[in-house]
Amino acid sequence: MHTVLCGHAEHSIEEMVAALEASTLVGGVITEHLPLPDEVDSDRVVSMYPGELPSYVGALQILRERSVLGADLVIGAEADWLDTDPAWTADSVAAARGAGVEVVLGSVHMLDGWAFDDPERVQVWDTKDVEEVWEQYFSVWCAAASSGLFDVMSHPDLPKKFGHRPRDPRPYYEQAAKVAGEAGLLCEVSTAGLRRPCAELYPAPAFIAELVRRGVDFTLASDAHSKAEIGHRFADAAAALLAAGVTRQAFPKGDGFIDWLKLE
Ligand SMILES: [Zn+2]
Ligand SMILES: [Zn+2]
Repeated sequence: MHTVLCGHAEHSIEEMVAALEASTLVGGVITEHLPLPDEVDSDRVVSMYPGELPSYVGALQILRERSVLGADLVIGAEADWLDTDPAWTADSVAAARGAGVEVVLGSVHMLDGWAFDDPERVQVWDTKDVEEVWEQYFSVWCAAASSGLFDVMSHPDLPKKFGHRPRDPRPYYEQAAKVAGEAGLLCEVSTAGLRRPCAELYPAPAFIAELVRRGVDFTLASDAHSKAEIGHRFADAAAALLAAGVTRQAFPKGDGFIDWLKLE
């Protein structure tokens, strides 16, 4: 879940927490986008300002003390894996954990500085070979997943967002699932994909099946950028997991601690 701090979501931390409290969910993880380098996000439209990290964490700590959710309100963040500067990502995640962030999502939104999921840069796809983008993406994704920096990998087949798909995605699923399994990572099942042109969960059902085969467990994510999106179509995500033989959902609480929720 995201807040106005990242520059492209609708509601404040307080509003998102209040909406979470009012929802039927047992709790959740607020996962604001960690600051990106100035040259990547000069207008601050995809990530919080670098100086905002302590106040972001502090606000959530205070809200948690007062909240009926208690420990079920988890302080998280979404980190960008920068393929051009992985050390930057490592420093960023270390700073976040040092500031009190408990759960870190690992995301690949950029390849060589191209934000391939940005609607304003979608035309760049026309100059690319889809197969090559997928190949590059999954090679970068696997480097991210094996970095040891993250607790959960978000939207793992993001390049399909606008409908750009390779002839046969299965080798990419196999490659990624093997790395995620060996790294002991959790993976999101995100309903955000259902709201995009691809109209499909991230990851796709065949990708979920491959992750299951490698022993990977899953979180449920709506990637909410507004109150209304909190828990959006979780029943569909749960149904996809149940169809793959998965009967439990991971709710990471930080320090590697996970609550297991029964899916039904
Ligand atoms: Zn976002
Ligand atoms: Zn993301």
